[in-house]
Amino acid sequence: MREEDLEIEVVEIKKNLGREITKLFDKIILPKTKGVESPKIMLLNGSGPTKKFAKKIPKKVSKYSFTEPQEIKEADSETCTKLLELAQKENIVALLSVGGGKVLDVGKFVGSYHKKSVIVCPTSTTHDGICSSRAVIRKNGEYHRSINVNPPRAVILHWPWPESCTKTHPEYILSGLGDLSDKPNACADWLLTKVMQERGEDVKEETNFNKTKSKKSVDAFKEILDILKKKEEKGEAITPVELVKPVMHSLITCGKQMSSLEPPSARPASGPGHLISHALDKILPQPRLHGYQVGIGALISYYIREKYLDLDEKLYGKKPYGIGFEEVARAFKYARIPKHWKELGIDDGDMINAIVEAPEIGKDRWFNLFEYLKEDHKPKINIDGIFANEILSGIEERYKEMYFI
Ligand SMILES: [Zn+2]
Repeated sequence: MREEDLEIEVVEIKKNLGREITKLFDKIILPKTKGVESPKIMLLNGSGPTKKFAKKIPKKVSKYSFTEPQEIKEADSETCTKLLELAQKENIVALLSVGGGKVLDVGKFVGSYHKKSVIVCPTSTTHDGICSSRAVIRKNGEYHRSINVNPPRAVILHWPWPESCTKTHPEYILSGLGDLSDKPNACADWLLTKVMQERGEDVKEETNFNKTKSKKSVDAFKEILDILKKKEEKGEAITPVELVKPVMHSLITCGKQMSSLEPPSARPASGPGHLISHALDKILPQPRLHGYQVGIGALISYYIREKYLDLDEKLYGKKPYGIGFEEVARAFKYARIPKHWKELGIDDGDMINAIVEAPEIGKDRWFNLFEYLKEDHKPKINIDGIFANEILSGIEERYKEMYFI
C-alpha cells in the first residue's frame, strides 16, 4: 500500500472537542451507516487518568451514541472475545479507543476482526504502534509478540495534552523518544540486507529496501535530536511536556511508514534495539516500558556498529545516517531518558543474557546486525556472554570518557 493510499487522518483538536469529533465522525463514519439514526460507537478507555477524559466525549458528541465505556486492563484474547460479542450485540458502526498502547491495540484488533473503522485518541507516547498495522495481544497469559491488524482510520490529537497524563507520567512521553532512537538502526539493518543482496548473498527479506520510507522514519527521530540540540546549545532545560507534540508526530510518521509498505512491515521501525527489548521482555519478571528498553538496546546497537562494523563507509557507515552512540547518549542525558541499564534497575547479568538472546529473537524475522556479525563479519563473531560483557564494559568506558558516570 502506498502512503498516499493509506488514509489515516490526523486531526489536531485544540478547542471545541465535541464539534471537531462530530465533524471527523461525519466524514469517516457517516457514509457507511446508511441513514442509521444515532449510529453507535464502541468507546474504549484505559484505567488511568485517561478514563476521565474519555467519559467527556459522549456528553459532547450528541449526534452519535456510545456503548458504556469499556475499561481495558489487559490486551489479551479474553478481553477481545468479550468485546467482539458486545460489538455484535450492540451493532456498533465504529470504535473509538482513548488511551495508551493496550487500549489502542485492543481497538485495532476488534475493529479489524469486526471490519469496522477504528479511531484512536492516544494519551501516551510510549511506543510507535499508534497507527501501525500491528497489535500485541496476549493469548492465555502467554507472551505474544504482535499480529497483523488494520491500521486506524484516524488519529485524534487533543491539545493541550490531558494535563494529568503529563504530570503524573512524564515517562510515558520520554519512553516514546527511546523507541524512536532505534529507527536509524532499523533502517541501517534494512539497508544492510540490500548490500548483502547486491553482494549476491541469499538473505531473507520480506520487503525491499525503500529509500523514501527509511528516510522519513530516520528524519522523524532526527527532528527531535535537532530540537534537543538547539535547546541544549542555548543552555535551556527541556520538559517532557514540550516533547509531547514532536514525539507524537514522529511516532505517527513511523507508524505510517510501517503500514504503507506492501506487505505492511515493521522494517523501517524495528531495529536491533527492539530485539534486545523483546529479549528483556522474556527475561525480566517485570519488563520496563517498551521505549525505555528499546532506548538501551539502541545504544548498545550503535556501540556495536561503531566498534565492529567493517563495511564500506559509502555503502553503510559506522554511524547510520550520521547518528551514533554519542549523539543518542547525549540526547538521552539531556532529556533525562535512562541511558544506562542500571537506571532501569536492570543488572549486568540480565543485560548480558538479553544481548545473547537478541539474535535468536530476530532469527525468524529478517537479516540484521547480529546475523551479520555471526555470519558475514570477518572474523565471525560469537554473540556469547564474553562478547556481551565486553560490550557493556566498553559502554561504561565511553560514559566515563564522556563524564557521564
Ligand atoms: Zn517500538
